[in-house]
Amino acid sequence: MLDRPNPAPEAPCLDPFALAKALSGSHLIGGRFTPARSGRSFAVVNPATGDEVAQAAEGDAADVEAAVADAAKAQKEWAKLPARKRGALVHKAAALIRDHVEELGRLIALETGKALRTESRVEANTVADVLEFFGGLGGELKGETVPFAPDVLSVTVREPLGVVGAIIPWNVPMLLMALKVAPALVAGNSVVVKSAEEAPLAVLRICELMNRVLPPGVFNMVSGFGPECGAPLVAHPLVRKVTFTGSVETGKIVYRTAAEKLIPVTLELGGKSPMIVFADCDFDKTLAGALTSMRFTRQGQSCTAASRIYVERPIFQKFVDAMAAKVDQMVMGDPLDEKTDIGTIISDGQFDKVKAFIEEGRATAGATGRACSAMPDDPALKKGLFIQPVIFTGLTRESRLVREEIFGPVTCIFPFDDPEAVLAEANDSEYGLAASLWTNNLKVGLNLAHKLEAGLVQINQNLVVQANLSYGGVKSSGLGKEASLEAMLEHFTHKKTIMVNMG
Ligand code: ADP
Repeated sequence: MLDRPNPAPEAPCLDPFALAKALSGSHLIGGRFTPARSGRSFAVVNPATGDEVAQAAEGDAADVEAAVADAAKAQKEWAKLPARKRGALVHKAAALIRDHVEELGRLIALETGKALRTESRVEANTVADVLEFFGGLGGELKGETVPFAPDVLSVTVREPLGVVGAIIPWNVPMLLMALKVAPALVAGNSVVVKSAEEAPLAVLRICELMNRVLPPGVFNMVSGFGPECGAPLVAHPLVRKVTFTGSVETGKIVYRTAAEKLIPVTLELGGKSPMIVFADCDFDKTLAGALTSMRFTRQGQSCTAASRIYVERPIFQKFVDAMAAKVDQMVMGDPLDEKTDIGTIISDGQFDKVKAFIEEGRATAGATGRACSAMPDDPALKKGLFIQPVIFTGLTRESRLVREEIFGPVTCIFPFDDPEAVLAEANDSEYGLAASLWTNNLKVGLNLAHKLEAGLVQINQNLVVQANLSYGGVKSSGLGKEASLEAMLEHFTHKKTIMVNMG
């Protein structure tokens, strides 16, 4: 007997350690908790202590086969429901998530090391926002009447694609999953999610909560490693669309497999997002904006992190000093503690990678790396993957720290003298995800906004992804958009033309 009863409590569980244990060792396939067919599982580790908190089912092609088969069966009936009814069910799921925000915030803090107050609770709330937003869009799956000839009625209708495979990363797993699953479902597709190996628990809980209101098989989740579990999902013949967020390297692998099958893909990949600060900006607001932009509360583990900051020369030194002083005031510590601003890096591998970048920067002639914010002194956290945020100055554009995505709490600040020169610097990157401009001269700001090679440009703010804002990059940052009505229509349906000759 493979299936097992729901091991997780019905009511919100505010003890993340207990909930992690309860969710151990399962996929969610066809509305049921199911261990890996191979019987294998792998450890989920609390990065603040190094302790194992759960085991996750280690999925492979056999589990993917079961999940896709159930999803394909369920999709046929799901697509027959009126679109607004599908939306209403997704909306109902949003209410359940809203009731479980505190629980989900604590669970994601435990498995990712992101601080509860500044990041994890916020993420859980945004998941509910996204489900509410898409839940209301069922009626927007409209077609058109096309003028063709007087005696020919020509219309288009939007049809779902079938089974969608969604592959997600570990940095904002609940939100990035919601951005894929909600529009896919409302559009009439069924979904199989492959969670990130580092953070499978909170997304499993969300899947379970949503399965309380959705028909079984419409939304399934498998956990496991990329090549063994993600790759078979992309390659499965019944998967008719893949939506992926992760690294450029893996995105290219996914794209190649999808090309062989001739199926559409959405790829949200990396970033090296510039922040451009003019001397006429509102200094205090911009300073606060720099901390948000750099996503220091997420340890910089964000594709949109402002990891290159260009500051107009008259305020350069003042800005660098003030930013360092502000980051110094941030509290690094236990992610579950309400006092904590900054938690941990996700994994040993990421920790080593970020440390190597920092060492390389420090070893660069002429560069200065200022470490900010005190390391936690709690002995219980001595094995925690904490890294002090580092602000580099004096690097050149050839540096790996300036060109590559670090995905850690490291930013590089440069002075500039001329808007055209800074524009060239900002665009001199393989990435093009996001950018922000800080100035009270809207003429300058808008002019640059139009010329910046990025999918999202913000002036005098730098928000993270929000429902209803089209989000997605250019160049190596990816293909396609998420988070908007356009994303649902363009990426989760196809347009069929129907013609009637009335002559
Ligand atoms: P990161 O290095 O940040 O973990 P990845 O791109 O490797 O980024 O991972 C993002 C997601 O892609 C994860 O869920 C991972 O398991 C999955 N993944 C990794 N390799 C593959 C692959 N070959 N095919 C499909 N999915 C993969």
